[in-house]
Amino acid sequence: MTRRLLLVVACALVDADNRILIAQRPEGKALAGLWEFPGGKVDAGETPEDALIRELREELGVETKTACLAPLTFASHSYDDFHLLMPLYVCRRWTGFPRSLEGQALKWVRAKQLRDYPMPPADEPLIAPLIELL
Ligand code: C5P
Repeated sequence: MTRRLLLVVACALVDADNRILIAQRPEGKALAGLWEFPGGKVDAGETPEDALIRELREELGVETKTACLAPLTFASHSYDDFHLLMPLYVCRRWTGFPRSLEGQALKWVRAKQLRDYPMPPADEPLIAPLIELL
């Protein structure tokens, strides 16, 4: 079966206390209610870093820059109708206080607590590298 390849970028914003920000997918979206790392689709013409900087601004009202985005690992997961490729970056430096601008619930959690929050299947393999890092 051939599936479309979808490129999505995600980010673990890590605060000074080593807590990670996760967001709950709102009602009306695919996988509503599940928790994820902030991010979104890479648009045509964007680099993954450009896309992540834009998504963090749109979703959370924070500003960061490419030099503050460290790639950690990536998810590669087949859904029924597309294959998702999703690099995960770690960001420790940004400006602005993250707030919900798109109706999603937000939570700061420790890496080891991530397993208590149901995530999309693509995101689950990202947890172990974060636990190892933090
Ligand atoms: O966030 P958005 O709906 O634009 O993402 C497109 C698709 O990518 C979602 O429907 C979901 O299947 C997948 N996705 C995911 N994990 C994420 C973000 C998106 O599996 N963290």
